[in-house]
Amino acid sequence: MNAKYTIDGFIHIHTTGDISMNELHDRIGGRFMAMSTDEIREWQSQALARSVAQAAKSPFYSERFKNMGLDPSDIKSWEDITKLPLTSKEDLRLSYPAQMLTVDQEQVIRMHTSSGTTGKPTAIFHTREDIDNWAELMARSLYQAGARSNDVFQNMTGYGMFTGGLGLHYGAERLGMWVIPAGAGNTARHIMLIRDFHVTVIHATPSYAMHVAERMLQEGDDPKSLGIKMAVLGAEPYTEEMRQKLQDIYGFKVFNSYGLSEMNGPGVAFECENRNGMHLWEDSYLAEIINPDTLQPAGEGEVGELVLTTLRRTAMPIIRYRTRDLTRIIADKCSCGCNHRRLARMVGRSDDMLIVRGVNVFPSQIEEVLMRHKWLGGNYLINLSTAAALDQMTVKVEIAKDAFDGSLDTLRSKRGELQKELKEQIGFTAQIELVESGSLPASEGKAKRVIDERG
Ligand code: ADP
Ligand code: ZN
Repeated sequence: MNAKYTIDGFIHIHTTGDISMNELHDRIGGRFMAMSTDEIREWQSQALARSVAQAAKSPFYSERFKNMGLDPSDIKSWEDITKLPLTSKEDLRLSYPAQMLTVDQEQVIRMHTSSGTTGKPTAIFHTREDIDNWAELMARSLYQAGARSNDVFQNMTGYGMFTGGLGLHYGAERLGMWVIPAGAGNTARHIMLIRDFHVTVIHATPSYAMHVAERMLQEGDDPKSLGIKMAVLGAEPYTEEMRQKLQDIYGFKVFNSYGLSEMNGPGVAFECENRNGMHLWEDSYLAEIINPDTLQPAGEGEVGELVLTTLRRTAMPIIRYRTRDLTRIIADKCSCGCNHRRLARMVGRSDDMLIVRGVNVFPSQIEEVLMRHKWLGGNYLINLSTAAALDQMTVKVEIAKDAFDGSLDTLRSKRGELQKELKEQIGFTAQIELVESGSLPASEGKAKRVIDERG
């Protein structure tokens, strides 16, 4: 039975009997979770000064600071953040393999690289303490979403360099969950393990979770029969409509999880039980939202590019990293009691934006429309080409299994309505190709949604 305790007035710690309240509190960084807004800012000021001093030990930042005439000891408060230089993905690539490393090689216990979605991957290094802190962030993220040590957790993302594997793994173990490191792919085995070991929590990319569900439906199996309680989904953008569709199919609750390798990986921001934006762990990351064109701070609550600074990483602090992810900060208080501010669902990456016939479109806008329809499946592909010197967009989307009742006319008229709805959303007419369930390439990790064949 779950015991319920209260620590610091508002963080409710539930243990499941095998570990003490104090031990759990330590494991998940309870003292950070329970910080007031003032305590967070005070901590950030000290942590930023430490992080900048540490960064200055790397060849990359020591040179950059010197060129700017910046003395690390000038950074005394979190408000000094704007005195510091921005760091771009290109800077990370230039500093490859190890120009941002600040410690002796013998202190490094692990490295990861990014997935390389947009080019050459970047390498990130960790000391033992860094790995420990990351596991703590992950454990508290899972905890605040409602996962407990008596849950059985199946990790359905790739292990190896991809941070979603070991990142979630260490966090779930730290929380004391029963961890099944199933890894990416092998859908039949995933289904078997979930059933046989009564898995209650899964971690996957939304596109893979959708793929598993559709495979089951095609085989006449019901994803609800798996009995999964919650799904931690992230590593790629997805819409509220995609969340809803997955929840309807599986009967579980989906929690949005955001992270990037440059900031460790998952565990940067995570939804609590209210699921109204992702609490960003402000003791570990200092967040800014900037206008990506002017590089000036965005207005309060405005959407812009998220810029993050590591506050608790030793081997490789990164200062003002331009994530290229577009979101906004939600500053109003969350009723869960956690004072760490929230990030809204990502609109996408700034480099995901498509310019079609002069119109800006995010794949997420298209997904939003497609996922509203129950007769459509969860997999789609956006194809861009040129015909008669004009951009053409074709959206290929799978229809749901059993949605075709034998009448092509009905299907044509549904397609016509969908085309109109899409036009209202994106401002121009796209071709829509309805394809059979299971016929588009399935993803085991991050889905590739766009194929651009324009010259
Ligand atoms: P890469 O940048 O090469 O894809 P990563 O595996 O580090 O390598 O991916 C991090 C990126 O994944 C983030 O910058 C973001 O664009 C995307 N991402 C991660 N989690 C989410 C999420 N919950 N919602 C939207 N995008 C996400
Ligand atoms: Zn909350």
